[in-house]
Amino acid sequence: MQENGSSVWLNGSLIPWHEAKVSLHAHTLHYGLGVFEGVRYYKTVDGHTAVFRLADHIKRLYASAHIVGLNIPYPSTEITGATLELVRRNAFEEGYIRHLVFLDEGVMGIYAEQNPVSVAISTWKWGAYLGQEGKDLGARLMTSTFVRQHVNASMTKAKVCGQYVNSVLAKWEAIKHGFDEALMLDVEGFVAEASGENAFIVREGVLKTPPLMGVLPGITRDSIMAIAKEAGFTIKEERLTRDELYIADEMFLCGTAAEVTPVRELDGRRVGNGEVGKVTRFLSERFHDVVQAKIERYKGWLTLI
Ligand SMILES: *Cc1c(COP(=O)(O)O)cnc(C)c1O
Repeated sequence: MQENGSSVWLNGSLIPWHEAKVSLHAHTLHYGLGVFEGVRYYKTVDGHTAVFRLADHIKRLYASAHIVGLNIPYPSTEITGATLELVRRNAFEEGYIRHLVFLDEGVMGIYAEQNPVSVAISTWKWGAYLGQEGKDLGARLMTSTFVRQHVNASMTKAKVCGQYVNSVLAKWEAIKHGFDEALMLDVEGFVAEASGENAFIVREGVLKTPPLMGVLPGITRDSIMAIAKEAGFTIKEERLTRDELYIADEMFLCGTAAEVTPVRELDGRRVGNGEVGKVTRFLSERFHDVVQAKIERYKGWLTLI
């Protein structure tokens, strides 16, 4: 299990981890209508701690809540301040921050608009999400038998708790079949994303990723695109078929948890030469330089603690 931060922020107070309690009748626990964020913070080259793209994550948290009709009862400045205070208090050099907005105890029926909305912020230590081997050598993926939900069945621009049932089914299936991660197709059969990461391929020097239409607008996806663009790569956001992935020169996944994770195999087929590709390695290293404040032009993405 991961090491949890000793304090959490819950509904306006910083309290010890073990004192943070939730009601058994919290609505979200039963029906999944809640939203969340995942943010990472890093140790910089000069020994500080910096939160990566915090303002963008907070903005998406409020957007997610708005999409599903939850009203966060705190101004974003308070949530931002609480996040920084918590990171300071929990004193990990590097870690992961989870914001959770959930519908609390009240009526138990589906229509529970009057139930109070609770907000929790917690931290934990998180290493390589798809394992160190996946990060170093590349992950092995299978195309899931579970389809990514239709854009009118789930809300693809929001990180909604209950939507993760779809991801969990896909991920567990992949692991049970001996793979590291699931690649999910949309209802029309085009590549969507992995269970919790956006997907990219490199073919003949061009970076390709599915358009935002049916996938979560990943902040890491956006960062990688900015970094790649600055380095002179052509990026195409277009629909991809699974066989285009089979014949890609390189493939990688990206997300806050997974950072940049190369893919070496999909459905039993080697991707590229089965090793971490040159472009993937370049973007991964550049991304780590950015989060460690090694590159001046990206320092605006970092909030120093
Ligand atoms: C969070 C998430 C991602 C990655 O987004 P980041 O902002 O890069 O962390 C990708 N896909 C899904 C489904 C997600 O929930």
